[in-house]
Amino acid sequence: MVIIMKPNGTQEQVDRVVERVKTVGLDVHLSVGEQCTLIGVIGDRTLLGETPLEAMPGVDRTAPITAPYKLSSRDFRQEDTVITANGVEIGGAEVVVMAGPCAVESTEQIIQIAKIVKDAGAKFLRGGAFKPRTGPYSFQGLGEKGLKMLAEAKAETGLGIITEVMTPTDVKLVAEYSDILQLGARNMQNFFLLKEVGAAGKPVMLKRGLSATIEEWLLAAEYILAGGNSNVMLCERGIRTFETHTRNTLDLNAVPAVKALSHLPVVVDPSHGTGLIHLVAPMSKAAVAAGADGLLIEVHHDPEHSLTGDSKQSLSPNQFAQLMGELKPLVAAIGREL
Ligand code: PEP
Ligand code: MN
Repeated sequence: MVIIMKPNGTQEQVDRVVERVKTVGLDVHLSVGEQCTLIGVIGDRTLLGETPLEAMPGVDRTAPITAPYKLSSRDFRQEDTVITANGVEIGGAEVVVMAGPCAVESTEQIIQIAKIVKDAGAKFLRGGAFKPRTGPYSFQGLGEKGLKMLAEAKAETGLGIITEVMTPTDVKLVAEYSDILQLGARNMQNFFLLKEVGAAGKPVMLKRGLSATIEEWLLAAEYILAGGNSNVMLCERGIRTFETHTRNTLDLNAVPAVKALSHLPVVVDPSHGTGLIHLVAPMSKAAVAAGADGLLIEVHHDPEHSLTGDSKQSLSPNQFAQLMGELKPLVAAIGREL
């Protein structure tokens, strides 16, 4: 349930309602909007007894949140969530581009690519130190050494770092080196990991599971929000369908659909979503037109020799710079910034 306070209500009235809800042992989540304050109440509302909350001073009305996810729902928070990471706002006017290699391979490689993507206008450097590979014999990433290389690239360029964390025990370590913790598609429903990043106090990007419905995805985000971390962005990265021409089927319906259901920022990954270089630019543009708040794009200075074999989807420096140039007028046409 959500308790909607009157637009001209006072802080004292909010405090009194919160106290009443808390005395019966229910959990309270405040959402302070420009117009009014919403008080989200999670749990069995019958505990509040018969006396209507509407009778309390400052309360306008109450409304049930019918979706199974609550804190991530638009009913709980009407305004878009804007997340600040490394001084950059995600979910605001800017379309934020995060780019870099599939995996961190060496200090030289990551610094070289960081400079390339920064010059073209990216705000975050992506690159996996812990790689969730489908097969056990594939390159698994450099682990902590890779994180240190990302830190060097950050020191060199000032770019924010987004990198994947795969296990609950690594969350503290990865959080030390990153500005955004990436939760990969294969871990979307790793509930222990979701709870751990919920407590990490760092922005999180939750990728959509390989065959997750939008509702399952938002419920996974709910775990992180319920754990006390409200800085969650979602990333559409393609889903498994019967189509085999592309690596995955990039579900761009999900962008406006999720934005209607939820206040959380939505990022699109056209690299893993298509798996094909020549589709990355058109789908990046389509994602921006559909309302994406950011793009996560694989870029490699020497795609043919990348260690993860994601060469079929990694843009070359020139291709990336060209895409960034082509995005500019499109972003301006929809009233956003790049
Ligand atoms: C990645 O972005 O590095 C990655 C592994 O993607 P996904 O989890 O979407 O497969
Ligand atoms: Mn990859």
